[in-house]
Amino acid sequence: MLKWVVLGSGCFSPEPGETGATVRNPAGHALVVGRDILLFDLGFGDLGQMFRAGLDPACATHLFFSHRHPDHVGDLPALLFYYRYARKPRGGRLHVCGPRGFAGFFQRLERAHHPWLKPKGFEIKISELEERDVVNGGDWRVLCREVPHSTEAIALRWEGGRRSVCYSGDTGFDPGFSLFAQQADLLVLECSLPDGAKNASHLQVSQSLQLVKTSGARRSLLTHLSRSSFQELSKRALSPKIRIASDLMQIRVG
Ligand SMILES: [Zn+2]
Ligand SMILES: [Zn+2]
Repeated sequence: MLKWVVLGSGCFSPEPGETGATVRNPAGHALVVGRDILLFDLGFGDLGQMFRAGLDPACATHLFFSHRHPDHVGDLPALLFYYRYARKPRGGRLHVCGPRGFAGFFQRLERAHHPWLKPKGFEIKISELEERDVVNGGDWRVLCREVPHSTEAIALRWEGGRRSVCYSGDTGFDPGFSLFAQQADLLVLECSLPDGAKNASHLQVSQSLQLVKTSGARRSLLTHLSRSSFQELSKRALSPKIRIASDLMQIRVG
């Protein structure tokens, strides 16, 4: 079984949209691969979202962080603290991956919370990923691409059997990204900004839709939504292959 679970479909601000109806958690996603869970970012509030989605954090084998903005890593200390006292302790190894500079960031985080993040009964491995690096998970692999953002940031592509899922993390417009995401069964792409916004670190609605098209992805999920990008997206006539993410949405892959 392979499924993608959206823990948080929002960005830095969890405030409700203009209608007052939607509070989106910050960026966090889980790829369920059989009994294992691979996490792609875990923004603040997303540990609780795992429980709401029925996902047991003890099953997480890998954490892939696209970058270290708090809306993507906010619940990393919460998760490690939870592991220390969880009713059902975890074992094995947790492989935590992030972009360049991530190992130092992790050390500083551990020191700031010392000793409450130290693993008990399991081990943590930290890896910094650069362009073209590959993480091997046995019957699957994750490829890395560096993407333009306001800090070191990576996009990640999971491949296993004949299936593939590509996650952009936060990125500015990068035409080469569509090659990295080429023919993915599921492309999970950020869509933070309305058209015309002046911010080269994120994608505007039309840029996201352009990358969806040029990638040839079979299905796409637009996420990292702000109030204004969601409003703009809602006005567009989208192909049925494109979905707008919402928290706790689950998508079977392949
Ligand atoms: Zn973000
Ligand atoms: Zn960011």
